[in-house]
Amino acid sequence: MFRLFGKGISSSTSSSLSKLEGLSLLCIADTHRVLNPSELGILESYRDKVDLVLTLGDIPVESLKKINGDYGVLGNHDYFGGIESEKNLHLRTINHTTQPSHPTPHLHLSLGGFEGSSRYKPGRFVMYSQEESCELLDKLDYCDIFISHDSCIKEYYKNNLEDIDAHSGLIGIDKYIEEKKPLLHIHGHHHKNEVKYKYGVPSICVYGICLVEIKNGLLSVVDLRENKVIL
Ligand SMILES: [Zn+2]
Repeated sequence: MFRLFGKGISSSTSSSLSKLEGLSLLCIADTHRVLNPSELGILESYRDKVDLVLTLGDIPVESLKKINGDYGVLGNHDYFGGIESEKNLHLRTINHTTQPSHPTPHLHLSLGGFEGSSRYKPGRFVMYSQEESCELLDKLDYCDIFISHDSCIKEYYKNNLEDIDAHSGLIGIDKYIEEKKPLLHIHGHHHKNEVKYKYGVPSICVYGICLVEIKNGLLSVVDLRENKVIL
């Protein structure tokens, strides 16, 4: 199997990332449609070679079933109930220990999440106002890996602060990262593969299918659809 390795980065957070040493994650976001044969091939190649498969929203239920991820959150184009409740990390944290058969066995970590995007239209959609995101995320405990569909506020679409639309991001996510300082933040929604640092926390935006790994204290991210090293 052809496999790219990320070049990795040594950051100020690398010492804290040591708790996640060896961890490999397959992260999937924003397919917005049924997976094509190439994407299914990637999934099958990597599923048993990673510790966890995470879904980050805007993935149709039919594709979610094929992915059969470990944990995930819904996106703003998804429907409430689209993820099985035991896999849905929205507003809860769970403790997870990797299986003995996994690449990094017996690794203890906690995960938590927040679904949906900033609210840009009324109705029963997976969307939250800025105020709701702050109130709800204020109650979420610390977790090592925080997954969300949307990003921090104004991370990818820097219009005026008072203008809120589909890609504004959420203040609640920003505050959660600033106050709780998870080791890793992974999100979707913005159709980019990019890593930014927010309050010293690596914040990974995933579009499609990415392999996220921590090896020798270095974080690496590879876009598997494009065979492109992101970090
Ligand atoms: Zn979205």
